[in-house]
Amino acid sequence: MSAYRNQYIDINKWTRPGIKNNGVKKLVVHYTANPGAPAANHYRYFGQTLPAQNRNLSEKKQTFASAHIFVDRTEAICIIPLNEVAYHANDVQQFVNGQPYRGVAALKPNANFLSIGVELCIEKNGTFHPDTIARAEQVCAELCKMYKLDPINDIVRHYDITHKICPAPWVSNSQGFVDFKTRVKKRMAGVVVTVPAVSNPDVTHTDTGRFIKNTVVSSDGLVLRTQRSASSSMVLNLPNGTVVKYQLGSTVNGWGYVEYTNSKGQTFHGYVNVSYIKSDNELKSGGKKKATSSKPKSTQKSKFSLPAGTFKVTNPLTRGESVKQIQTALATLHYYPDKNAKNFGIDGAYGPKTANAVKRFQSMYGLRQDGIYGPDTKAKLEALLK
Ligand SMILES: [Zn+2]
Repeated sequence: MSAYRNQYIDINKWTRPGIKNNGVKKLVVHYTANPGAPAANHYRYFGQTLPAQNRNLSEKKQTFASAHIFVDRTEAICIIPLNEVAYHANDVQQFVNGQPYRGVAALKPNANFLSIGVELCIEKNGTFHPDTIARAEQVCAELCKMYKLDPINDIVRHYDITHKICPAPWVSNSQGFVDFKTRVKKRMAGVVVTVPAVSNPDVTHTDTGRFIKNTVVSSDGLVLRTQRSASSSMVLNLPNGTVVKYQLGSTVNGWGYVEYTNSKGQTFHGYVNVSYIKSDNELKSGGKKKATSSKPKSTQKSKFSLPAGTFKVTNPLTRGESVKQIQTALATLHYYPDKNAKNFGIDGAYGPKTANAVKRFQSMYGLRQDGIYGPDTKAKLEALLK
């Protein structure tokens, strides 16, 4: 029995161009970057939502993106035939000597014509569930047999090709990726393997508290982790001097909750040893963290206050702080009103672009796709941002 099922999206120029590839030299693993969204939601997103939105945009603003197989805890769906091109690994992240960085020689000049893209869904807290990893291993073992590939050398990360931070859990922790490939190889040999459980993979951060600016003070950098424990998985290494947002009152046993947004607008969150981060006041005084910062105040509000009521495109447009709050929450989850505009299109006006961002969000999380912000959309945004 196959580890995945075929459920192809229709041919369209943005997500499934219907072009035959030039054979399969490598498997490329990705992460979806959509916390809590299962494989089926990505089928809908790339099959319907994204093409529908692109149809109404100028060529320059259209998004071309997809991958072949999406894997979650319970299933794997192949949405693009494996002998066709998907748009998953030919992005430009940086230039070297005037040329886009390309780290995998065998996939030059365009990895999309020579590889299969396998996307692993992530949990609400940004980690891979062991069942998702196990299923991805089965899929990759099957594909390696089919295309006569060696898992150790022929499974690569998106990061290896273009330096995109993808799949983030295995960019920060490359050993996790090495272990993954090793288990794929074992599975091909018929060895029964188990994926070690991440400690409490379902724990999500539920404290509420105000965020303040902190700076990493540690010459070796500081590891951002998924749990309040040095043995939990790494999310990222934060270099000395990195500015993060620390949530007041979140420190327990020396571990506090922080958020970090990189220069590309990607936000990462998790726990750090708070003795290596300092607020501006602490930096000025050279002092230690105040004891008061370890006690949550029940009156503290969540960082994301979202308006009640219904918001949609009106004539004239609805404007104001409430719209800005909705836009900021969407952008934090990478649903930008306008990715290429100043401040990602967060302008306080509920126009068609904001409605589109709401629609994409609704599509990914199984809500009615009407582009109207209401109680259901509010609740889902809050659940993901708390
Ligand atoms: Zn990727």
